[in-house]
Amino acid sequence: MDIIHLLPDSIANQIAAGEVIQRPASVVKELMENSIDAGADRVTVVVKNAGRTFIKVVDTGKGMSQTDARMAFERHATSKIQNTDDLFRLRTMGFRGEALASIAAVASVELRTRQKGSDFGTFIEIAASKILKQEMDSCAEGTFFLVKNLFFNVPARRKFLKTEETELRHIITEFQRVALANPNIALELFSGDDMIYELSATNHKQRIAAVFGKKIRNFSQNLLNIEVKTSIVNIFGFVGKPQASAKNTQQFFFVNGRFMRHPYFHRAVMNAYENMLQPDTSPYYFIYFEVNPENIDVNIHPTKTEIKFEDEREIWSILMTAVKESLGKFNIIPSIDFNTEGQIDIPVLGKNRNFEMPKPVFNPNYNPFANHSPRNSYSKSFENWEKLYEKNEPQYIDIKPINSNQPLISENENFTDFFRFREKYLITSVKSGLMIIDRQRAEERIVYEKILLQMEQQQSAMQKVLFPENLQLSTDENLLFKEILPDILAIGFEFETEGENSYLVTGIPSLLTETPDIIELLQNILASVGENGIQKEIYEKIAAQVAKNYAKFSQSAHNQAETESFINKLFQCQNPNFSTDGKKIMAIIADSEIFEKFN
Ligand code: ADP
Ligand code: MG
Repeated sequence: MDIIHLLPDSIANQIAAGEVIQRPASVVKELMENSIDAGADRVTVVVKNAGRTFIKVVDTGKGMSQTDARMAFERHATSKIQNTDDLFRLRTMGFRGEALASIAAVASVELRTRQKGSDFGTFIEIAASKILKQEMDSCAEGTFFLVKNLFFNVPARRKFLKTEETELRHIITEFQRVALANPNIALELFSGDDMIYELSATNHKQRIAAVFGKKIRNFSQNLLNIEVKTSIVNIFGFVGKPQASAKNTQQFFFVNGRFMRHPYFHRAVMNAYENMLQPDTSPYYFIYFEVNPENIDVNIHPTKTEIKFEDEREIWSILMTAVKESLGKFNIIPSIDFNTEGQIDIPVLGKNRNFEMPKPVFNPNYNPFANHSPRNSYSKSFENWEKLYEKNEPQYIDIKPINSNQPLISENENFTDFFRFREKYLITSVKSGLMIIDRQRAEERIVYEKILLQMEQQQSAMQKVLFPENLQLSTDENLLFKEILPDILAIGFEFETEGENSYLVTGIPSLLTETPDIIELLQNILASVGENGIQKEIYEKIAAQVAKNYAKFSQSAHNQAETESFINKLFQCQNPNFSTDGKKIMAIIADSEIFEKFN
């Protein structure tokens, strides 16, 4: 008996939809791209409840004939390519003919469309791939899509939509990409009655300014032009001056009017900025490539934004040089006022460097007659450290001194004090050698784990501030902010709403009373919380930012006693070896290395 049969279209379309339409933002993207392909000079997008209730897209494009309007919902129905050769001449955003079929498979869709100069238009209603109604309509020229109840027949999908804030952020992101790629088209985005963007047709620079101008300080002074024309690629666009770099910058590549991700080209840009950026910051860039469509492959995946180029290596160098040149032209050299904190290498670990013996720090508070002899307690805690250290980094432990008869440093000797070296390191001797601890990173680690614990137990101390500062956010930052607000409150912040997208910071975690720029810290938190952060990750990111800030300004470990307790705290951490961004907190110069230097 034969058991194989073809799936009905409705099911096939629904399966295909799983790939193309992942969330409301995908619908917005596909419909906007169709409008652009149809030659619209104005596209208006309205979403209700971040697209859950409805998504409306209205354009002034060429419209569809009655037959085409019906055909458009068939799978693999497209007006954009006819044969495989066309694939290599692609100038349109769409070509697979999958989007409308997919949308209509997982939502109810109303289409009103009228061709230019035509006396009447067409109305079609379709839901779950079933045509419910088709009739003549007296709509305006152009095309009007109304997509309602997305995923109504795919409950699993509908249930897994994220919060309205998150879904709206995705929509805004897609909208921004289309907006930056098509500055010559007027574009509007509304969420319910709220106008989010109202962009008139303009040039690239003005469009970037209209989309991100408020976010980038001194926008026009801080963006530099790049432009280069070669036989394989034309590149133009804008890169931010190094001093405008920040934690959450906008970085965009477009090719032939299409947004793309390109990690390899990204490295070319970053290469051009080498040594010009402050630690942990990245530059702005908006870079547009024009290439012969024959030389790129956009066909990788319906929703993927990666694009393959034929002359990738050549373009890499062209791009790198272009960015470098434009940075150079404006006389931007790394200036001395750049913050170099945190960049200093540990010099003693270099192979051919000489080790400068740290001078002991004199402790004026030392009282040899005190009951509690610091010396003894130091050596006691040494044992503890080494045990903890062993657990995490066993490779350090079995280094044997070259001449084991004459160990340079023994625990019984009086060299167990701590030295503060170059205000940056704490140095002390341990069984296997000389241990160097990066004080700031250690501090960061200690505070990080403390905050995480506080957050998990929801018990952190809050300090009211005398002069509340103002936190001003953009619409999409505010969406993100609202989403993580419970977590931020949990670590001891307090806010008053001051207006739309604006808050007063009325309370801060007591840990942060020394932090000079609370607003910057909050912005860093927002920047570091990724799009899909799950709860635990959000905690970690917030804690990491707070800890970093705290560590930057705290000056603990001044005297021997403080240092001892500091080091003990470090070794009580779950992971005393690395800072939150994976940098080494401590290093040991093995006895053997030291001996070698005297051979
Ligand atoms: P694709 O864009 O890959 O061709 P779609 O499913 O997105 O596939 O659209 C199918 C066809 O419907 C398009 O090729 C186009 O001819 C027509 N179409 C879709 N949207 C519009 C629109 N806004 N204006 C005019 N024609 C449209
Ligand atoms: Mg399309």
